[in-house]
Amino acid sequence: MKLVSPCDCRMCGKATQSEPARRDGQSGFALIHCPSCRPYTVDQDMLDLLRDNEFEYPIKQRLRIAIRQSDLVGEPLDLRGDNYLAIAARYSDIPVSRKRLAILNHVRLLSRGDSAAEVRIDEGDCYTLLLCLHEGELLLLMEHLQQTGHLRQSGVHWTLTYKGWEETDPLQHGGPIPGTCFLAMAFDPALESAYANGFVAAVDGDCGLQIVRVDKQEDNRPIDDRIVEGLRRAEVVVADCTFEKGGVYFEAGYALALDRQVVFTCRKADFKDGQGVHFDTRMYPFIVWEDEQDLRKRLARRLWNTVPSLKGKTRPADPDGEDAA
Ligand SMILES: [Zn+2]
Repeated sequence: MKLVSPCDCRMCGKATQSEPARRDGQSGFALIHCPSCRPYTVDQDMLDLLRDNEFEYPIKQRLRIAIRQSDLVGEPLDLRGDNYLAIAARYSDIPVSRKRLAILNHVRLLSRGDSAAEVRIDEGDCYTLLLCLHEGELLLLMEHLQQTGHLRQSGVHWTLTYKGWEETDPLQHGGPIPGTCFLAMAFDPALESAYANGFVAAVDGDCGLQIVRVDKQEDNRPIDDRIVEGLRRAEVVVADCTFEKGGVYFEAGYALALDRQVVFTCRKADFKDGQGVHFDTRMYPFIVWEDEQDLRKRLARRLWNTVPSLKGKTRPADPDGEDAA
């Protein structure tokens, strides 16, 4: 039985509900189901800080952007008294070029391949999704994109212009090919079974994505070139940090720099509550997997929640009937 109780979301002030939650096996957390911010968890320190409202203006907005980005991958953001400033700092100076591309890609996604589609953007709901601090910022950027000829507005509807489609075309820009997944992991015989029964089963079997692992390709070109090409072409990158291979961090970093979604995973025995992976990656919502079955199930669920080209497709029934990762 779930102990759900009404509360106000301290981020946005809206009436919502909360329930007790566990994080990393520990209790004492609350999961806030805010319909406006999206779900996030808080520890008692964070709850006290939010209650006292001891925030400078942009910090809360940056945290709301972080909550929304985390929700995109199906993970409630874990906000604690000792991590919230670092999380806010990650969103402190988002380049306008990223915001601009996020907006264009959002209109493209909503257009579902119809280059004449007129779509509605709910600015009030999606400004944090599109990396903006407030609704006015999103509106201003959309106006700017209209002036530069990337978007066209008619009434409350927006259409991506030819220039906008070109700008977001993955082939023209050497960008991602929808439906491909690059797998970065240790090439170690001890992980062969997890590769076949966990990664391939989830990526290919459960999600229908084409999996790219460079050591499995028949290709005479230098492996470095194939890695860079594979990362450029991938829509999503899965980076398994089991055995802490430098190459995996290199590939994950390269992919993040290209604005690809990166799903970090690590075998539980090696994760050691986060101590087993590089400090720089600990902020990311890792899938810490127990065994191949657990890996397959959770990775498939995350990919369905993350990969843009899977949005709009019908997902086969989740064996556990759960929706969140
Ligand atoms: Zn809220």
